[in-house]
Amino acid sequence: MGSWMILQRVSRSIRQGNLQQRMFSRKSAHSECRTVLAIPSDAAIHERPPLQNAFLQQRHSSSSSRASSEFHIGPVTQLSPEEEAMRDIARKFALEKVAPLVRSMDEASAIDKSILRGLFENGFMGVEIEPEYGGTGSSFFVANLVIEELAKVDPSVSVCCDVQNTLINSLFRRYGTAEQKKKYLPRLATDMFGSFCLSESESGSDAFALKTAAVKVENDYIISGSKMWITNAEHAGVFLVFANAKPVDGYKGITCFIVDRDTPGLTVGKKEDKLGIRASSTCPVHFDQVRIPAGNILGEFGKGYKYAIELLNEGRIGIGSQMLGLAQGCFDYSVGYVMERKQFGKRIWDFQAMKHQIADVAMKIQAARLLIYNAARLKESGGNVVKDAAMAKLYSSEVATYTTSRCVEWLGGMGFSKESPVEKFYRDCKIGTIYEGTSNIQLNTIAKCIEDEMGSGKSK
Ligand SMILES: Cc1cc2nc3c(=O)[nH]c(=O)nc-3n(C[C@H](O)[C@H](O)[C@H](O)COP(=O)(O)OP(=O)(O)OC[C@H]3O[C@@H](n4cnc5c(N)ncnc54)[C@H](O)[C@@H]3O)c2cc1C
Repeated sequence: MGSWMILQRVSRSIRQGNLQQRMFSRKSAHSECRTVLAIPSDAAIHERPPLQNAFLQQRHSSSSSRASSEFHIGPVTQLSPEEEAMRDIARKFALEKVAPLVRSMDEASAIDKSILRGLFENGFMGVEIEPEYGGTGSSFFVANLVIEELAKVDPSVSVCCDVQNTLINSLFRRYGTAEQKKKYLPRLATDMFGSFCLSESESGSDAFALKTAAVKVENDYIISGSKMWITNAEHAGVFLVFANAKPVDGYKGITCFIVDRDTPGLTVGKKEDKLGIRASSTCPVHFDQVRIPAGNILGEFGKGYKYAIELLNEGRIGIGSQMLGLAQGCFDYSVGYVMERKQFGKRIWDFQAMKHQIADVAMKIQAARLLIYNAARLKESGGNVVKDAAMAKLYSSEVATYTTSRCVEWLGGMGFSKESPVEKFYRDCKIGTIYEGTSNIQLNTIAKCIEDEMGSGKSK
């Protein structure tokens, strides 16, 4: 059966109200399900050409053979058949397509075009986007599995996918008008990157001190300012820009604007020359009197600060998944080496000092996995994830740093050489403690949650 026919079939069953039952292994109270069901049946996406989306095909074949009643609450790491199948597709892509190019992409500071294409063709860039819009129509948890699998091989490729799924697509799906969704979601699922533009040179952790301004002129807004550190900016076709449209109201003037790449006055600056995740593009983006219609506001005027916090709170789980995958990929490679390498007439694995270190790292990685999977499942069930997501992101980035440092040592000189992938994992992991909120900011968030819980008598 062609993938386009499968798409139509899935979309038909959404209209019949079956999707929620088929999609989730747990009972979900999340409002996004209601959003799916609210899509008008005549959403005219049907002219789009058939997709070569292996991910979607797998999703269909695994989901059609089961009912939600087959599932019970088990360990948080237990995957449904659909989750397992999606993870395997991402794993195969990472090992077969990404792995051979990791080193050359790091050296070139660029992701190979075949990989960028492959991310879309396999459905990895629109994991949660509804099939009506050409997406895979799967879950947040599955998006995180994909991010993890890609990071096991290349954290640069992983972050491309992470930003698209957890920030850009989620913002459009949650706050876009029917028209905005119809215009952007099909492209975001199939061939267009989006960038999330919040940070500026003077506002990082203190994000709402941003200076980019939006001034209303007739029915338009004119945006002026510069954003910094913008992931995927090199390739992005659309930018979600946080600008203050009413500075007298302080952060409550911050509004989210949709700006197309070809809008006059928008320029993407030179790529940053980074320590790690070098292949992923990170650029400044400048707005010189960029004029856009008022209809390009995403969501409500003055709610940009709320959307940014909300999305970053959830997005942190994605960064946690990236760090988890990175740690696991580095660990697996290194333990394989340790089990083969011989010194003093035996495998270095056979020294108890080595085994104890390895066991200790394995335990930390598993603890990170439990925090992340639990936070992702909590998000899917509609729960408040602020504390859990901050803990998951903070802990997994610490584990990634610890793991990669140990692995470099376990490999001896080879760990210090670009001949092994461990040296790159060691560089790549550092970003986990910085973006989407530094480690100190995660600690602040966790502490604030504890304070609130104590105040309300809800302490665990
Ligand atoms: C590779 C990369 C990709 C990125 N991608 C994006 C993107 O796509 N979109 C986007 O908008 N931004 C992006 N960023 C920006 C990123 O989110 C910021 O770098 C991050 O939030 C930290 O801000 P800063 O760099 O200004 O550091 P600062 O805020 O200056 O922090 C410096 C130090 O001060 C500490 N500090 C600051 N405030 C406090 C406090 N209140 N309490 C305790 N300690 C504090 C921090 O923890 C940190 O250790 C990216 C950054 C990088 C490096």
